[in-house]
Amino acid sequence: MTVSVSRVSLVTGGAGFIGFNLCKRLLLQGDHVICVDDMTSGMPQHVDELRRHENFRFLHHDICEPLSLKVDRIFNLACPASPPAYQADPIKTALTSVLGVRNMLELALANDARLLHTSTSEVYGVPLEHPQRESYNGNVKTMGPRACYDEGKRCAETLLHDYHRVRGADVRVVRIFNPYGPGMRADDGRVVSNFVVQALAGEDLTVYGDGSYTRSFCYVDDLVDGILLLMELDGEHPQPVNLGNPHEIAINELAELVLAMTGSRSRIVHLANAVDDPKVRCPDISRATTLLGWRPRVDIADGLRPTIDHFGRAMTAAVETVPEFA
Ligand code: UDP
Repeated sequence: MTVSVSRVSLVTGGAGFIGFNLCKRLLLQGDHVICVDDMTSGMPQHVDELRRHENFRFLHHDICEPLSLKVDRIFNLACPASPPAYQADPIKTALTSVLGVRNMLELALANDARLLHTSTSEVYGVPLEHPQRESYNGNVKTMGPRACYDEGKRCAETLLHDYHRVRGADVRVVRIFNPYGPGMRADDGRVVSNFVVQALAGEDLTVYGDGSYTRSFCYVDDLVDGILLLMELDGEHPQPVNLGNPHEIAINELAELVLAMTGSRSRIVHLANAVDDPKVRCPDISRATTLLGWRPRVDIADGLRPTIDHFGRAMTAAVETVPEFA
């Protein structure tokens, strides 16, 4: 008789937006999932939903502290990712990237486990090459409000590479470009969640600057596909891989699309530019396509529909939990 033993996958930041979607997929494919989160930006509702699955365990833990567990796969996602969230405690943000990845690398070596780390398009900073290939070294300030995230993630990539070269760790790195979708916090602070929540609430859509800056938005299901493909790819693959949707749009265009899709009569207002805000961002995904056969399948309109539904439900639930006053 053969007894099938399912794999144990650790997801740090599993109570966050991408982590939650990844945990769900791992559970669906039969993994035992351990979610580690310090709940800085993770959502208790996500943990409650995941806990309904018998193969799910939650551990309230800050990855800046070492961790001892038996695991086969480590997905390192723990770190606040929206500019307002990661700038709220910049020292903690940088340390979560640097100490957190060191602790996960030690855990990977102790278990002979494979580690996939989620890096970011922010390692390219204010890019002077466009679209951005993985070979581009970026244009990043060591100081300033974004540096804690950008430089923290860059240092994490350095550690991953050196643990691979010096100590033989099996590591993979994805650089994520502007993900969005169901599971985002309504108060996340990134542009998609801000615009959809503002449109649904009938509030002004806040465009920072003149709205000509561009981003390339990647639907979360596409992203999770890419993450899982890279994690399971045979061989050694320590080089970073861009995961993003190469369809680039201006922020004004996104605002118009959100208004049209929600049927909202909100106005678009222009506020001051955010400090050090990259003017453009778009991934070159040749490496992901060649290595993984991956390309995004969900375009922005198709991705916005379930995202709008998600925020609609979240806002209704929030209203229902407001206590009534006599
Ligand atoms: N942005 C905006 N209004 C908002 C939030 C963001 O105009 O309410 C702009 C922001 O200045 C940037 C782009 O949208 O140019 C994407 O910002 P986001 O915070 O989503 O992510 P980033 O790519 O900057 O990390």
